[in-house]
Amino acid sequence: MTSIGISRLHFPVTTLGPGRRIGIWFQGCSIRCKGCISLDTWASGRKMTTLRSVTGLLERWLPETDGFTISGGEPFDQPFALAALLREIRSKSDADVLVYSGHSFEALTSHLAEMDRLIDALITDPFEIDDDRDVALRGSGNQRLHCLTPLGVERFAQFERTVASDDKAFDLMMDDSGTIWLAGIPGRNDFKRLREFLESQHHTIVTTEDRLSETR
Ligand code: SF4
Repeated sequence: MTSIGISRLHFPVTTLGPGRRIGIWFQGCSIRCKGCISLDTWASGRKMTTLRSVTGLLERWLPETDGFTISGGEPFDQPFALAALLREIRSKSDADVLVYSGHSFEALTSHLAEMDRLIDALITDPFEIDDDRDVALRGSGNQRLHCLTPLGVERFAQFERTVASDDKAFDLMMDDSGTIWLAGIPGRNDFKRLREFLESQHHTIVTTEDRLSETR
């Protein structure tokens, strides 16, 4: 039985690749970029489940999905689970697969050889807080997009461009507890402006960063 740490699954995600996508966020990140907006995904060993449970949950969305976006956390911190998940996805769906990693492409060479043709597009390199934020699908301008298959080229070559106004969107998710999550690529100060707006409306804002620091 394959164990896997998963922070979150969601469908549809429309801001992290073309079409209506299944979003899969891995739990655990050893890279820890300054300014990361996903601090709740850093701790490893949390939210452990089995690959069978994950694929069972994805099953209901498969007929409707245009693609899969796998992010985190750092998916390659769990390389065996990631490869097993990718094989399951490929066996069940023709939709494209986009994976985000904070590692460089060069550092992933051996893993990618084992995942040959399982990933259509890969975005690599750590988030750099001081870099420009003007490239589509990427949090900072240093991050690189690699189209690894013909399907990857067909679906993702269009994102080798600067951010367009249509890109400036978030998917909003609400879980059973009423907690709201955002998916998408924020611009500089977007969250600061959102916080200020909500506080002006007398809402109480508790971010995932606050929650992580409470548990330390
Ligand atoms: S690799 Fe991703 S999840 Fe990890 S710290 Fe960097 S931005 Fe955050």
